[in-house]
Amino acid sequence: MDQKAIFKLSYGLFLAGVQTENVKNACIINTAMQITAEPLRAIVTLQKANYTHDLILEKGSLAISILKEDCDLQMIERFGMHSGRDRDKFEQIDCETDENGNPFLAALSCAVLSLKVFDTRDLGTHTMFFCDIADARALSDAAPLTYDLYRRRKNGEAVQKAAEKTAPGGDWVCSICHYKYDGEIPFEELPDDWVCPVCKRGKDVFVRM
Ligand code: FE
Repeated sequence: MDQKAIFKLSYGLFLAGVQTENVKNACIINTAMQITAEPLRAIVTLQKANYTHDLILEKGSLAISILKEDCDLQMIERFGMHSGRDRDKFEQIDCETDENGNPFLAALSCAVLSLKVFDTRDLGTHTMFFCDIADARALSDAAPLTYDLYRRRKNGEAVQKAAEKTAPGGDWVCSICHYKYDGEIPFEELPDDWVCPVCKRGKDVFVRM
C-alpha cells in the first residue's frame, strides 16, 4: 500500500464546534462533505476517542468552520493537537455562535455551516454523522484551506527552520510552485501582504534553500 496515494485524495480542513449545556469544545477534522443538494445534507466523521465526538452525540448539532488557506497554523495545533478534556481550548479566544448556539471562529474561516444530526453510523473507531445543513454563511472571499496545502505549509515551516540553521544565505523559494525570488529588495524586507508572483500565496509559504 502506497500511503502517498492516500494523500492525493483532496479534502479540506475544518473546525467542528459544539456547545452543550456545560461545555464548549471544538476540534480539527478533515472529513466533512456535502452529500446531497435537495435536501441539503452533509456527512462529518469524528474519532470516538475525541471529546467533541461525545458532545456532538449529546447535542445533536454542530458548527463547521471552513478554515481559510492562510489560517494561523498555531490555531490548528491548539484545536487539533490537544483534548478539550484537559483544557478549555476557547480560553482567551473570541468566538461566535451559530443559530444552534455552537461556536465557530469567524476570523479563521471563509464560511460556517450549521449542521443538525439526523442519523449516525458506527464505523468502529469513528462515528459518521449524517446531517442536514440547516444554515450556511460565507464569511470572506478567501480560498478554503485544503489538507494538502496544510501539509505543505507545515512541511515548509519545518524545512525553513532547518534551512535557516544550515544555509543562512540561500535563496527564498516558494514551497507551492517553486518560484525562486530574485527581486532587488531583500526578501525579509518585502511587505507582509506581498504574494508569490506565480501562485499568489503569501510570504509564509516561502522557504530558504
Ligand atoms: Fe508560488
